[in-house]
Amino acid sequence: MLTNIEKILFLLLVVVTGSAAFVTFRFMFRSIGRGNGVIARDAIWDRIKSGVVGTVSQGGIINRRQTTSLFHFGVAWGFIFYLLVNLLDILEGLIDGFIFPGDNAVGNIYRLLGDLFSVAVIIGVVYFLIRRFGARDPELTVRDNVKLTPKAVKGIPRDSLIVGLFILLHVGFRFLGQTFLIAQEGSDSWQPVATLISNLWAGLTPAAQDIGWHVCWWLALGLIFAFLPYFPYSKHAHLFMGPLNIATRPKRRALGAMEPLNFEDESIEQFGAARLTDLSETQIFDAYACIMCNRCQDACPAYVTGKELSPAALEINKRFYLKAKMADLASGKEDEALLLDYAISESAIWACTTCAACIEVCPVGNEPMFDILNMRQNQVLMESTFPNELRGAFNGMERLANPWGMTEDRMSWAESLDFNVPTVEENPDYEILYWVGCAGAFDPNAQEIARAMAKILHTAGVNFAVLGNNETCTGDSARRAGNEYLFFEMAMMNIETLRAIGADKKRIVATCPHCLHTIGNEYTDFDAQFEIVHHSQLLEELVASGRLALKKDQILEEATFHDPCYLGRHMGEYDAPRDALAKSGLVMLEMNRNRENSFCCGAGGAQMWKEEEHGRVAVSADRFDEAQSTGAKVLATGCPFCAIMMKDANIEAGDAMQVKDVAQIVAEALA
Ligand code: SF4
Ligand code: SF4
Repeated sequence: MLTNIEKILFLLLVVVTGSAAFVTFRFMFRSIGRGNGVIARDAIWDRIKSGVVGTVSQGGIINRRQTTSLFHFGVAWGFIFYLLVNLLDILEGLIDGFIFPGDNAVGNIYRLLGDLFSVAVIIGVVYFLIRRFGARDPELTVRDNVKLTPKAVKGIPRDSLIVGLFILLHVGFRFLGQTFLIAQEGSDSWQPVATLISNLWAGLTPAAQDIGWHVCWWLALGLIFAFLPYFPYSKHAHLFMGPLNIATRPKRRALGAMEPLNFEDESIEQFGAARLTDLSETQIFDAYACIMCNRCQDACPAYVTGKELSPAALEINKRFYLKAKMADLASGKEDEALLLDYAISESAIWACTTCAACIEVCPVGNEPMFDILNMRQNQVLMESTFPNELRGAFNGMERLANPWGMTEDRMSWAESLDFNVPTVEENPDYEILYWVGCAGAFDPNAQEIARAMAKILHTAGVNFAVLGNNETCTGDSARRAGNEYLFFEMAMMNIETLRAIGADKKRIVATCPHCLHTIGNEYTDFDAQFEIVHHSQLLEELVASGRLALKKDQILEEATFHDPCYLGRHMGEYDAPRDALAKSGLVMLEMNRNRENSFCCGAGGAQMWKEEEHGRVAVSADRFDEAQSTGAKVLATGCPFCAIMMKDANIEAGDAMQVKDVAQIVAEALA
């Protein structure tokens, strides 16, 4: 129990630090409000649920870095429990005779949890401090070739030390306070650890034990209030900004589905993001939620292969910029350019493969990929500054409706087949539209996939048709390269074509996951709904329904499947290709990085059309090495871009494996 003077001093502390915290928290939320759009708050109960689930599960951190994650569980759950502990401690200190939950079953559990969580938090924080300052874990560092603002270079260790010591002292003194209380009141079997330590104070007088408790109470709770105004400036803000960020995350049809720019509103002068305030509110929110764990960096193919890009560094740079400019931004002052000034280098924005691994892995729901894509939009639409090789792809899409810039007949791939591949004009009553894609139409490797797919459809007796020369690029590469206007034009053209042939009332199958994702998830923003499936999904259906018979006496070969980013992470399909391959007689071996944790082939995000940014190794070579290390003879793919990249890597490796698409393998297994 506090004395009356202590109570007055405590209330004074609450008023002073509470007022200061009101100001800094207002700065934080006002700086977020400088972004575009509004934070999502529809379907509020679902959002609250996802925030709670995200907090309790810690955003699925256990999937990677298991040991560290276990320690983090202890610290995070303990700190959440301490919200209740702090509240009850304040009430006990201020209100005479207040004891809650009391000496009953609930009280026993409360004291037991308090005891155990205190120990878990203290051990966890000591582990984290040793990991950062003693062991200097490389997972916590950012490579020298990545842009990291000098403020962050100095600020990350300082911030980590402040936060670590704050938690250690806060929880440590509260725990110590309990030991003094137990020394005064007698042992408590529901606080076994505190009771054990309380023996240290057995020789002290009751007055000295009481002083010990008072000092600990003040240090434990005084620290909280002293720290409160600093919260928005520290990475400890992730404690509440993380769950809030998960809860308010934009609802997307797929993990990486982009939002269209509005070209019809003439009052809009800025397309894409040049400054922090050009980003959306949720993208600014991301920076406050970032825990600086570098998990996204570990998963990023660009970073792993030595490029200048680290999605973690991007969020951290935004965070330190906000920290320095929070008051200015809150008061409406202009901000600086993201690119070059502080957030990211130019090479880094062009190194992103849009694989969405950074989004998938982030425990607090951050989406750094969209910042990069918005910066690309600014570079292309506002500055007209982009890698020169992309000009060829843009011109090809603009003038010839394909990024290859090919003028040939889009049906030439089907000429060598011994049956006719009908166009929609020839077969207007088709059941399924086969969307061949530009790769299938023009790239020699992908043409083989298209032929295999046509053979399967023909054999299974599927009533299908193709668009032939009426098919045009979906615009995926233009969009990922920042040319949203070109994408918009291509999307409009395709939607019109598809509607004209009644494809919105039928089914579409695509052998390219990029086409699949764009038509299925992004054309919807233009009020166009199409039922579109990946060829592996249709193959699975055809085999299951008995329409497609596969040889039973296949020679069993060992194969490994490379999950295409746009089929796996973007569309959530992992099983259909594996099933089709297994049914074709292959024995599946998994690479270490598979399914959600798969590693990009290096072609996505319009990388296909440009030189890879400078780094240690090509993304495709890194992935191919992994495939080869499984010992499998066959490397199976489900995307023409992946097939092209893996085939090139295979040639470099001296034809070590056979690289084939799922469709080719199934076609070979046809009975
Ligand atoms: S989308 Fe992929 S390549 Fe781009 S930043 Fe994220 S992890 Fe890296
Ligand atoms: S963006 Fe997410 S995954 Fe990356 S460092 Fe921040 S919290 Fe970690």
